[in-house]
Amino acid sequence: MKIPGIKLHNAADLANACSLLEKYGESAKALAGGTDLVVDLKQKRAVFEHIVVLGGIAGLDEIKLRKGILQIGALTSLASLAESRIIKKHLPALSDAASTMATPQVRNMGTIGGNVAMAVPSADLPPTLIAANARIITDSPTGSRIIPIREFFTGPRKTVLGAAELIREIEIDVPPANSGLSYKKFQLRNSAALAVVGVAASLVVEDGKISDACIVLGAVAPTPLIAVKASRSLIGAKPDFEAFANAGKIACEEGKPISDIRGSKEFRCRLIGVLTRRALEEANGRIRTAPKRRKN
Ligand SMILES: Cc1cc2nc3c(=O)[nH]c(=O)nc-3n(C[C@H](O)[C@H](O)[C@H](O)COP(=O)(O)OP(=O)(O)OC[C@H]3O[C@@H](n4cnc5c(N)ncnc54)[C@H](O)[C@@H]3O)c2cc1C
Repeated sequence: MKIPGIKLHNAADLANACSLLEKYGESAKALAGGTDLVVDLKQKRAVFEHIVVLGGIAGLDEIKLRKGILQIGALTSLASLAESRIIKKHLPALSDAASTMATPQVRNMGTIGGNVAMAVPSADLPPTLIAANARIITDSPTGSRIIPIREFFTGPRKTVLGAAELIREIEIDVPPANSGLSYKKFQLRNSAALAVVGVAASLVVEDGKISDACIVLGAVAPTPLIAVKASRSLIGAKPDFEAFANAGKIACEEGKPISDIRGSKEFRCRLIGVLTRRALEEANGRIRTAPKRRKN
């Protein structure tokens, strides 16, 4: 690949990529699948002299299950996420979210690391990753760190990542069998359309009552938003239509949508209510069919 005026550096491994980013400072950027970055370059929203290409780094595109933890390499493509048997079995909501994204071509190139690092408010993977309590594992010239995803996003296209810090992996504890998670998205077309609203919802049910819940709203605030009051309203309730519809109403009040070309503020508020209820219903349905947690 050649981009006029830009020097490409093929990183041998993640440590090499981090030191190249450190060396070239603000004039450098990492490139994974390029489905966001190349668009930004073409639209002149970003100007760089150096691009550090991550694509050739071995082992960063694997999905593993180790000791009850899902480990997803940063270069895992959206298509692999959508199709992975491990993800479909243990976290089907993430597979659903990936399969709603973009087009087959973009899903083949785009990566989970790029989607999370880009921090676009309408991005599809962050709400599910937040509801699943994921951890972001990073490397930088000063070492590695583990960042709870709930502390990762600081604003539109802004994260806590340092300039020479890269995502190596995303880790998620395999959800227990008495829990369920779902992602629901409304988009204006069936493909290649960003979320007008996206909602991820997780539920834990014990003795017929909800003991834990987390509702995360995408595309309705500068960062993915945990609907705290709506989530709390479910604790102690029976997992039924009434509780889910009530949580949807509360979530509508917690969202901070704006009007833009994809939908008005009022339309987005209504969508939050409907999608929250639907996500909770599907999460609840998944509890009954969830496989027993396995040790390996
Ligand atoms: C036609 C089209 C449709 C799309 N539809 C959707 C959609 O429906 N939903 C959606 O959420 N997105 C959508 N996208 C956006 C994009 O495809 C995804 O966000 C994708 O996951 C980005 O991954 P990438 O590997 O291509 O990132 P890149 O473009 O390579 O990088 C994006 C940013 O992340 C940084 N980055 C990449 N990897 C790492 C890493 N390991 N560590 C730290 N920083 C890193 C880069 O430096 C850059 O700033 C669409 C894009 C296009 C072009």
